[in-house]
Amino acid sequence: MKKIIAIDLGGTSVKIAIVSQQGQIIEKWSLPTMSQQKGQLIVPTIIEAIISKLEERKERVEDYLGIGMGSPGTILKDGSVKGAYNLNWVNPHPVKAIFQQEINLPFVIINDANAAALGELWQGAGKGCSDLVMLTLGTGVGGGIICQNRLIEGSSGSAGEIGHITIDLSNQFQCSCGKKGCLEAIASARGLTNLAKVLAKDYQGSSSAYQAFMVSQTIDAEKLIKAARAKDDFALRIFDEFTKYLGLACSYCANILNPDRIVIGGGISNAGTYLKEAIENHYQHFVFQPIKDQTQITLAELGNDAGILGAGYLLLLKESGK
Ligand SMILES: [Zn+2]
Repeated sequence: MKKIIAIDLGGTSVKIAIVSQQGQIIEKWSLPTMSQQKGQLIVPTIIEAIISKLEERKERVEDYLGIGMGSPGTILKDGSVKGAYNLNWVNPHPVKAIFQQEINLPFVIINDANAAALGELWQGAGKGCSDLVMLTLGTGVGGGIICQNRLIEGSSGSAGEIGHITIDLSNQFQCSCGKKGCLEAIASARGLTNLAKVLAKDYQGSSSAYQAFMVSQTIDAEKLIKAARAKDDFALRIFDEFTKYLGLACSYCANILNPDRIVIGGGISNAGTYLKEAIENHYQHFVFQPIKDQTQITLAELGNDAGILGAGYLLLLKESGK
């Protein structure tokens, strides 16, 4: 059976994998993202890596169903990517056109958060579900929505931008998108520092996390969650606000979409059950009560492989006409 080439493009590295139609990763490797020279070298380097891998495996393009790719930024209808600032692709970059010139295979491309959602649906926390929302908590907050096994892309490809729901009206939290009060400005790695700045203003208690913050003026997500677990007062206050806004955002997703699962992934989700339960406690208060138990919050299961598997799955869905 033909295999799939799957690519997960990130700001510092590109992960490439050969994936079976059943979702097994047959071979996986990575290379640095060549984002210099306005990102012009990124795609040619990936194409070169794929061609030499096929030679090494003594395979031909005909052994493959196609190529699926996940990328940061906004994906346009013609397969160009724009607004991927960490790749230096500010204006539309014709990713699909370059691939199709060099490799004669079907090619699909989606936003990386959407790829992660599809990956979890196929092989991870959403296996067996038809409706799933994924929130990726990292430097920012990514979102992906799947309804009835279909990725919701919206009229211009920007559906699922859950990170930019305005969730706080106090005007204290500046988001990278230019707006204030976005979920991402509060419930991401960057958002934790924003929360700490606001909460430190009139903090009176005793806390070593507070003292450390007053010196560094930044919050490290992993350390913060560890301190909250150890019952540090200031860390607990930040953690409670952080999970409150996430619980609120999850309730919006549940009320609008009623998915089987809301999957929490990304680096911050490594905090595991402690984080999940705290979000759940807030979620239970905010959500429309009849769906409280139907739409469950779960942790992602695939870690770094979610993007690769999702990109591969999208190609499989498109090629099988679904
Ligand atoms: Zn925003």
